[in-house]
Amino acid sequence: MPDQHRPRIATTRAGLRAALAGAPRPIGLVPTMGALHDGHRALLERARRENATVVATIFVNPMQFDNAADLAAYPRTEAGDLAICGEAGVDLVFMPGGDEVYPPGFDTTVHVDRLTRGLEGEHRPGHFDGVATVVAVLLNLAGAERAYFGQKDAQQLLVVRRMAADLAIPTEVIACPTVRDRDGLAISSRNVRLTPAQRAAAPVLHRALRAAEAAWRAGERSGDALRRAMLDALAAEPLADPEYVSVAEPATLREVDEATGPVLLSMAVRFGEIRLIDNLPLA
Ligand code: AMP
Repeated sequence: MPDQHRPRIATTRAGLRAALAGAPRPIGLVPTMGALHDGHRALLERARRENATVVATIFVNPMQFDNAADLAAYPRTEAGDLAICGEAGVDLVFMPGGDEVYPPGFDTTVHVDRLTRGLEGEHRPGHFDGVATVVAVLLNLAGAERAYFGQKDAQQLLVVRRMAADLAIPTEVIACPTVRDRDGLAISSRNVRLTPAQRAAAPVLHRALRAAEAAWRAGERSGDALRRAMLDALAAEPLADPEYVSVAEPATLREVDEATGPVLLSMAVRFGEIRLIDNLPLA
């Protein structure tokens, strides 16, 4: 067997800075919360193709969890994560303890305002303050030329891009397409917590998005009609409990009455304790 590539590991701010001093440029950064899967792998592989140095960060960020049980239950799979980073050719994995990201006395919150009023921001109070704050810290620590984020978390992507532009952080934010299982379910670290019956039901999110897409392709432009198409499809699955469905302007995330341009379809759906999100941009 060939030697498996082993990434270096940094666990402190100082260790990360030291490891990156003199590293070949450009640097590509992939922030994650671990429990790595094929969605993360696609980000890592893209970063590998486009950069001389690839840094993955693995940090389950307590500040972005609005629900203590969700944080406690969040899967942690360190050995598997390092194996995936090795396979993807990652050079350095930053796995900080909480005190390294938020040292004692940490007293700053980054708040992106209008973009976080709807969708996930409305249903998960404080979530995007946690995301924007941790990503600002990570982008500043790594000083990367590029950072890679998944379209799977469409609102997060917009929030991070806005935050980096507004705070003059010179890292380019790059969007990567959503990776799905064969049955259409968007891959997520939370999928492993679904029961077999819930897992079998979960592709209904993608079916609902596709139902609204079919209406859109047939000329439907009414926001209410498109939202109804998604809700009707979700209603066919008794285990699915929709939290919201949305048809929004892709740049502002404001809900659309009558679409005059591209839209972003998105939704959050509960299966028991597990909350799944998905989205589909339409042009
Ligand atoms: P997470 O570890 O869930 O915070 O995700 C880390 C990054 O991976 C984020 O930029 C996510 O949007 C991205 N990501 C998660 N799941 C997927 C997926 N199925 N396809 C593409 N990107 C993903």
